[in-house]
Amino acid sequence: MSLTDGDVALLARQAADLLDPASDVRIEPADPVDPYRFGSQSWVVRTPVANVGASAEDSAAELLARLVDQMSTYGDEAAPFYGRAFPACPGHRHPARAVVDGSEVVLRCPETDHEVARIRPAVPA
Ligand SMILES: [Zn+2]
Repeated sequence: MSLTDGDVALLARQAADLLDPASDVRIEPADPVDPYRFGSQSWVVRTPVANVGASAEDSAAELLARLVDQMSTYGDEAAPFYGRAFPACPGHRHPARAVVDGSEVVLRCPETDHEVARIRPAVPA
């Protein structure tokens, strides 16, 4: 099963809601003229923090993990949400790391490698 543009929109919204429910997120075809230019259908997800590539070949968990990981904030003074660690790593000032675990996304502390949160993608695997 491959992701549709509706799936990508749902996952983009899910990731953006974790950062800030008021945040704006948009998806666009990676190539507006030829949507299949990169092999499979692909998109660019424009989040307040980063532009993130998405492909129909991604699993829901892979795309959600990539979105959360690339939206990670803290150190870049030029970035929106500067100084706020996202995704949160409870008790720490650094952001957690997002990794795929089967059909879910696990947030792990980069120091202790402990699981701090588990996210089920809004789109079924
Ligand atoms: Zn930590």
